[in-house]
Amino acid sequence: MRVRSYKTEAVVLRQMPLGEADRILTLFTPDVGKVRAVGKGVRRTKSRYGGHLELLNRVEVSISYGRSLDVVNEAQVIESFPALREDLQQLSKAFYLAELVDGFTAEQSQNEPVYRILLRAFRSLDSARQPDLLVRHFEMHLLGHSGYSPQLYRCVECRFELEPGDHLFSCAGGGVVCQRCRKMQSSTLVPLSLSAMKVLRFIQRSADYSPVDALNVSTEVLREIERLTRTHIRFLVEREVKSADFMGLVSSSGRR
Ligand SMILES: [Zn+2]
Repeated sequence: MRVRSYKTEAVVLRQMPLGEADRILTLFTPDVGKVRAVGKGVRRTKSRYGGHLELLNRVEVSISYGRSLDVVNEAQVIESFPALREDLQQLSKAFYLAELVDGFTAEQSQNEPVYRILLRAFRSLDSARQPDLLVRHFEMHLLGHSGYSPQLYRCVECRFELEPGDHLFSCAGGGVVCQRCRKMQSSTLVPLSLSAMKVLRFIQRSADYSPVDALNVSTEVLREIERLTRTHIRFLVEREVKSADFMGLVSSSGRR
């Protein structure tokens, strides 16, 4: 007999109103990746589980397979990250992380490591000394778990080990280009100073965020890293996802 429904936990990445009282929910689950499902009647104040399905909530849901869209039958909040919701700056960062996950993951394609780092980032945002660095850390590891880990040790053109110095970053090549190869590059190149490269390498090596939070990074280097990461992400999204909403988000949340 065909299985009609399943239970899973999930993070609510996105919601869109549907009809009078329903919502289309984009849920990110550890077992089946991204799932879209309808929450029936969840916009009604009397809805039994509507309140549980707030954006960013970690929930336990029961989903049944529908003809066109799957349907959420039950929802129970597991974690709602209240500390995060008290601060608008943090909340907007958390929304950005959720949008990134939405942009970098495919439906029905499991990516459990990304689920783990997303929860970890939500839990750490309010205690982080440097929330901006936490976002950079998340972006780096999201890229890593999505198959886009930037190459920061060898030139992406000649494959030789990079010598200490200022370099350039090639979005198309997905990594650093050495001094010798830069002349041959016609695609977008972003300047990358030695200090910024060292910080990026450290972020890439640290699966855990806490050692990164202890770093002392100058505002200048922070901005350089932010600029580079955003250019790289925008490039990947334009090429792979081609989602106008997501693009707008990435470019508009660049400046706070
Ligand atoms: Zn080279």
